[in-house]
Amino acid sequence: MITKSKELFERAQKTIPGGVNSPVRAFRSVGGTPLFIEKAKGAYMYDADGSKYIDYINSWGPMILGHAYEPVVKAIQERAALSTSFGAPTELEIDMAELIVSMAPNVDMVRMVSSGTEACMSALRLARGFTGRNKFIKFEGCYHGHADAFLVKAGSGVATFNIQTIPGVTAGVSMDTLTAPYNDLEVVEQLVKDNSGEIAAIIVEPVAGNMGCIPPAPGFLEGLRAICDKEGIVFIFDEVMTGFRLAPGGAQERLGVRADLVTYGKVIGGGMPVGAFGGRKDIMEYIAPLGNVYQAGTLSGNPLAMIAGYTMLKTLKDNPSIYKELDEKTIYLHKGLKKALAKCGSPFVINRLGSMISVHFSDKPVNNFASASAANNTLFNTFFHGMLENGVYLPPSAFETWFISTALSAKDIDETVDIAGEITLNTPLNPS
Ligand SMILES: *Cc1c(COP(=O)(O)O)cnc(C)c1O
Repeated sequence: MITKSKELFERAQKTIPGGVNSPVRAFRSVGGTPLFIEKAKGAYMYDADGSKYIDYINSWGPMILGHAYEPVVKAIQERAALSTSFGAPTELEIDMAELIVSMAPNVDMVRMVSSGTEACMSALRLARGFTGRNKFIKFEGCYHGHADAFLVKAGSGVATFNIQTIPGVTAGVSMDTLTAPYNDLEVVEQLVKDNSGEIAAIIVEPVAGNMGCIPPAPGFLEGLRAICDKEGIVFIFDEVMTGFRLAPGGAQERLGVRADLVTYGKVIGGGMPVGAFGGRKDIMEYIAPLGNVYQAGTLSGNPLAMIAGYTMLKTLKDNPSIYKELDEKTIYLHKGLKKALAKCGSPFVINRLGSMISVHFSDKPVNNFASASAANNTLFNTFFHGMLENGVYLPPSAFETWFISTALSAKDIDETVDIAGEITLNTPLNPS
């Protein structure tokens, strides 16, 4: 029963474009009515009609310790009483910066912002200011937020809605965005050769999560690192999803590859609107007020956001066994899904790295945007709705990774797998 959600969606559409404040939430690609959420605790979300769901989105990543994690909730409540914003520096911001620097490899300095979009857009500006070059390379299907320059061949909602050209983004801006297929070093080498001395940055999701989950091929990130070293290009890891999720030091630590600049979001805010970018001191010193690369924010380093993020990151730093637990749970889910989906009559691919996992209905490996797009989305949508109707909340698009939280129990995973098995038996997902 989604009576209340239906009512709310109708009402929302009158005053909010599409009824939502971020496009993928609208369920357009999978069809149907988006659930309006009332509350969540641990691994479960409850919608406006009071139905309970096992949550595999976790606010698109931040809720790595489950919803309403008590120390974070308590810290926010205490801090709120001291005023919610000052527009002046606080000690808390130093604590946060020191904590991030202590956890993240190759991050000497960090600047806090309010979203992943802001982090990526600022990191790109910084790379351009530092190198004095304009062009940059991004990968097809990678999403770096909605700043103009990144919307060329982007993943996530841009891919979900198959948006080819973005009205509002000028040709002048797009001209400096060069794109290559994910996991394809040769194309990058050619681009660098053809644009010698003009490329400021290569930005990459070290593990792609915005075309489903796509891990980097062996040698891909190392190859990019080598190209950047050779050509004086700033190597930017967009760790908005992977940061503090794949390891305390994110993908840099987990995969053993060094970035010059790193962008963060999602987990770093513990569910509050937070992003950050950081990296090499000699580059970060180009940022205002030290340098002339301008970047600012009225609510940057906001005390409520900082205390939420700080409490979350400190928990992760002090309990590294969390990462082992997350891996084990995700592997357990992976094995279960593999068995359950084997009955569905359609070939499928499950990609996983750490606590990021996704399913594509495809008979070929899914290792870049072209292969993710070639997968059968009709089947995904059937699967998605079958799961949802039975109380499992998956991302409403095959172009999104799922995120596992520590709150998820073996029992929750067993239940999820049972439901997946039932659906695939009762609704044979025959490729059309
Ligand atoms: C979510 C995301 C962003 C954008 O972050 P927002 O906080 O939504 O602006 C950027 N890069 C990656 C890899 C993301 O997953």
